Amino acid sequence: AEPRLVSVRATRISPRLILLVLRDITERERVEEMRRDFVANTSHELKTPVGAVTLLAEAIESAADDPPQVRIFASRLTAEANRLALLTSRIMNLSRLQAADELTQMRTLSVDEVVASAVDAHLIQAESAGVEMLRGGKRGLYVHGDAQVLSEAVGNLIANAIVYSPSGERVGIGVKSVDGIVEIAVTDRGIGISERDQARVFERFYRADPARARRTGGSGLGLSIVKHAVQRHGGEVTLWSRPDRGSTFTIRLPQVAAPADEAPRKKKRR
Ligand code: ADP
Repeated sequence: AEPRLVSVRATRISPRLILLVLRDITERERVEEMRRDFVANTSHELKTPVGAVTLLAEAIESAADDPPQVRIFASRLTAEANRLALLTSRIMNLSRLQAADELTQMRTLSVDEVVASAVDAHLIQAESAGVEMLRGGKRGLYVHGDAQVLSEAVGNLIANAIVYSPSGERVGIGVKSVDGIVEIAVTDRGIGISERDQARVFERFYRADPARARRTGGSGLGLSIVKHAVQRHGGEVTLWSRPDRGSTFTIRLPQVAAPADEAPRKKKRR
């Protein structure tokens, strides 16, 4: 930042321009600081699973003549490697969303499609957790967005709702339109989030209860991805929650008109 300040002073540009330049520098520094934090957090978060994978690989090597033991270590190695794969893919998604470049796949999107693909991606998780997903509310709404990014955002909310619900519970996915805004709400009747944690759950790598979150294999990135994804679409995500009663996460996005050629033939394939 230094040389730029000097050159501004040397050319004696108007104070207003200097202010603009300073503001631009502050913004760049803020972005740079965010990037540094992100790299630092990421390296820290990767250390644990990478260390576990290394240790387990070594354990397998030294247990070579004890096949039952090798099998135990190998299945733990697979689990850790899967966690690592999920973590790295989430880190890449988040850094892509944080990058300044435009989302490239923007188009008029059917909210029904976004919700359906998010629900479909979590059918197996819901079934094995004994949780039922119920899709309610309005159909035939449209937003302008990137289908994959928005489906992942809704999917992350669904995944959490399932993880933090007791078996036998229901997770609701409700859609409505309020004053030109599409609302997609994911509701669970699970463990809920304390008021103190509510303010922080959207921060990257934040886990309300690390012990519990580790058991559930969480990365602490899911909600951060949701927040950035929705913000990139000019929307917001809000949270209502009560401990032991459950949570509702609501994504709000600007509604757009149905595309002229799709309105009469909703089932048309892309
Ligand atoms: P994780 O991958 O750990 O789930 P997230 O960013 O998705 O990371 O969520 C951050 C934290 O917020 C979680 O660790 C959990 O403590 C809390 N949380 C998120 N969704 C819910 C929910 N539906 N019910 C209760 N707690 C939740």
